[in-house]
Amino acid sequence: MALYVHKYGGTSMGSTERIRNVAKRVAKWARAGHQVVVVPSAMSGETNRLLGLAKELAPARANDAYHRELDMLAATGEQASSALLAIALQSEGQPAVSYTGWQVPIRTDDSYTKARIESIDDQRVRADLDAGKVVIITGFQGIDAGGNITTLGRGGSDTSAVAVAAAMKADECLIYTDVDGVYTTDPRVVPQAKRLKTVSFEEMLEMASLGSKVLQIRSVEFAGKYKVPMRVLSSFTPWDIDLNEEATSGTLITFEEDEKMEQAVVSGIAFNRGEAKISVLGVPDTPGVAYRILGPVADANIEVDVIIQNLSKDGRTDFSFTVNHSDYDRALDLLREKVVPSLGAQEVVGDAEICKVSIVGIGMRSHVGVASKMFRVLSEEGINIQMISTSEIKTSVVIDEKYLELAVRALHKAFGLDQAAA
Ligand code: ADP
Ligand code: ASP
Ligand code: MG
Repeated sequence: MALYVHKYGGTSMGSTERIRNVAKRVAKWARAGHQVVVVPSAMSGETNRLLGLAKELAPARANDAYHRELDMLAATGEQASSALLAIALQSEGQPAVSYTGWQVPIRTDDSYTKARIESIDDQRVRADLDAGKVVIITGFQGIDAGGNITTLGRGGSDTSAVAVAAAMKADECLIYTDVDGVYTTDPRVVPQAKRLKTVSFEEMLEMASLGSKVLQIRSVEFAGKYKVPMRVLSSFTPWDIDLNEEATSGTLITFEEDEKMEQAVVSGIAFNRGEAKISVLGVPDTPGVAYRILGPVADANIEVDVIIQNLSKDGRTDFSFTVNHSDYDRALDLLREKVVPSLGAQEVVGDAEICKVSIVGIGMRSHVGVASKMFRVLSEEGINIQMISTSEIKTSVVIDEKYLELAVRALHKAFGLDQAAA
């Protein structure tokens, strides 16, 4: 007998029919003698619908009182899907009980809409499992020290699942989704993308942080910190397929360096449409300028990603960086009102139609010329690179958004991923 945490995403929970399918699958695991904790997402579209209602009443506001209510609101999506799954399981003859994050409780800090999990008390969950029940815990949410409901950021049910698996020392955390594993790139953009049988934790971390939304970045961080065995697999296989076949399907996230002799140089390509570029033009090229521009941005809690400062000409330079779309207007206003006048810069311009494309692979550590090959491939396609950022196992470029698909497909082919058989 083993303990498994199953996580089902929004599409997998998207209708009563799909919820029944999930229930049949979970009941199969329970009947095989395993203890199962299930972490469901809200039914697909529900979180967007709820947040849309809030926006109709009041546009996004940067204050805690507003964000508190957004969490109160959005958390209901998972409460509904969890109860529905419990009902479906019971109707299959499988005893089941559902809990919200605060009932468990899953304790978090108090950063509404992007809270971090601090601890999980698994006592009542264990008692129910020992009594033969499947336990369902709402994804995406917890409770802060003041008793307020918090949510973990979009896609946060992945993190709930991995955190529960870590706290309960589960044998494995199975992330069921609408694709059958982690691919060399998003299979919806590149039909030739190949599924990876295994992916190293480090690569998965980079891919998630660079925009592959198949796993929320924090779930991968959690898995790394607590060494939680984690697998991404399809919820769309027939529910009654052989359990052992199911248990070995999909993509396993591994913690050991791959035993394969020949490491693929590039394992995957990630992209992110969610950033915008801001340039402060004609900045005096003097010490402390980066701080005077980015200090106020950080103080406003705006995350900055790629940064580039150009060579100075006549003692003036241009300073560019990217931020999330959701912070774009706020960042522009802030710079125009506070930074430009005090810094004596010329102007601030922005471009929201950009994207970031990244190649990722631990094999890049031991190979030279990978980045330059990336640049060559893009130049052959006539794609202009606006910004570049590199680390040991990735190279990212910022390009015009209209070239995203062309760039990803060309790079996928050039790095041999169309043929990859991992
Ligand atoms: P869920 O609702 O189950 O959490 P998500 O929509 O959050 O599912 O994540 C699954 C989606 O991630 C897939 O449908 C796919 O389009 C996208 N995706 C992006 N990059 C990858 C990748 N490298 N491998 C697999 N899927 C990817
Ligand atoms: N329902 C939440 C969202 O849509 C959390 C999740 O699905 O993981 O972001
Ligand atoms: Mg997701």
